[in-house]
Amino acid sequence: MAVNESLPFASYIEKMPGGQVILATSEDLFNWAKAASLWPLTFGLACCAIEMMAAGSSDYDIDRFGSGVFRASPRQCDVMIISGTICIKMGESLKKLYAQMPEPKYVIAMGNCSISGGIFYHDSYSVVKGADALGIPIDVYVTGCPPRPENLLHGLIKLQEKITARKAEAV
Ligand code: SF4
Repeated sequence: MAVNESLPFASYIEKMPGGQVILATSEDLFNWAKAASLWPLTFGLACCAIEMMAAGSSDYDIDRFGSGVFRASPRQCDVMIISGTICIKMGESLKKLYAQMPEPKYVIAMGNCSISGGIFYHDSYSVVKGADALGIPIDVYVTGCPPRPENLLHGLIKLQEKITARKAEAV
């Protein structure tokens, strides 16, 4: 079975002289568990969504990172992957979906359109210039037009690193 080497559990275990004792705060362990089971929301906005779907295929196997469980309800997911062009008409729906996600929640902006409006930045009356403009806080930006599935997996690993690093801030 493939192992997610970006989140080694051994890093949370410290050996004591003469024995083995797990030394970790419960927050460390919760953050480790959260980072290893980021369930995405099932939705896509445009061409980038095809690459997101490809990331779930056997060639790329997003399940290795605990993120293969795409949920149909925002109430059951941890991460929103904004994959594609955000039309102004879609903006309110996007904000509503984000509001319905339970805390802690994370957002990945996948592709230039969701980051800044991409090729529609200039001369478009119907496209939002990035999810930031909607007030949705982005945790990780995955650049490209479109980004390849490997880029999305890299973004996922960066999000995992961000979540597990929060334990250090909290201590
Ligand atoms: S960034 Fe490129 S591939 Fe992605 S939605 Fe925009 S135009 Fe399509």
